[in-house]
Amino acid sequence: MDPLRDSWGREIKSVRISVTDKCNFRCTYCMPAEGLQWLGRQEILSFEEISRLVDLLAGLGVDEVRLTGGEPLVRRDLPLLVKMLARIDGVRDLSLTTNGVLLDRLAKPLVDAGLRRINVSLDSLSHVRFAEITRRDALDAVLRGLEEAERFPELRPIKINCVAVKGFTETEVPALAELARRKPYVVRFIEFMPLDADEAWREDDVLAGGEIRAIIEDQHGPLVELPAKASSTARRFRFADGIGEVGFVNPVSEPFCSSCDRIRLTADGQLRTCLFSRKEWDLKTPLREGATDAELVDLIRFAVRHKELKHRINDPGFVRASRSMSQIGG
Ligand code: SAM
Repeated sequence: MDPLRDSWGREIKSVRISVTDKCNFRCTYCMPAEGLQWLGRQEILSFEEISRLVDLLAGLGVDEVRLTGGEPLVRRDLPLLVKMLARIDGVRDLSLTTNGVLLDRLAKPLVDAGLRRINVSLDSLSHVRFAEITRRDALDAVLRGLEEAERFPELRPIKINCVAVKGFTETEVPALAELARRKPYVVRFIEFMPLDADEAWREDDVLAGGEIRAIIEDQHGPLVELPAKASSTARRFRFADGIGEVGFVNPVSEPFCSSCDRIRLTADGQLRTCLFSRKEWDLKTPLREGATDAELVDLIRFAVRHKELKHRINDPGFVRASRSMSQIGG
């Protein structure tokens, strides 16, 4: 089959799939304290439906699948889905993004099911500040989850995702950089994006990757840039003495849209061609109304042809995405 290509010539190789919009955290940069209106059970794609779509996408050359949410580990029987996806021909890279709070229980079943890579979100190593940002007293559970993940050498690399918020993250950086040095974790700082459900994001709240790099270099000396895949969202660096790796995902200060190879599937079966899309393409309805594989493939190709050239966060008159991060699947 012809590869999946958008109108700007970018080939789509990666899909992020949200398996639930529910989350057991309430991170201030993501969700309101009281949560959101959750999707009903019937609205959410079944494992069979997700699996069928991944099978079709893999046939179109999409070889990277990342499961996310909401919090993916709150979806019942998630290892079963991992097992179904790991068996699909053409899925080369199957990974998961989680807040880690249930990982101490689920790391083993997930690895047994075929998971090979994991990203754990962690914004602070201080109990008080962790609770301040997530609105949950769960740092110890997340650290336990990470320790458990570490027990499985097949689950590598373990990446830590830290959302960088101005006025909060600066003081967290030294401890997080140390974590990258004393543990087999790649610590990545992600710029705060206007995807918070509260719509409180302001440009001034963005702590740019360059600013964090300067804080780390102040302490550890110059970082050495490592090669990264062209489609990589992160710039990778190692410490000068060779111990530890950090990364910077800078969608606001250094947008990487020109090499974007991603699409997203929401928990309720909507295909999104950009995090900042205002439009979604309904796959669930045709899927449930008996569409053939060929019809679904046509729909996917049509949607991808309309993939946005770039997000417009830095443009005057920027209009926010039609849903917030946890509803899309980060
Ligand atoms: N619950 C899982 C987790 O915590 O990793 C997966 C879903 S979460 C929405 C995915 C990632 O998006 C997390 O690393 C989270 O910190 C990040 N995120 C949420 N809101 C964000 C925002 N407004 N800007 C940048 N990253 C954000």
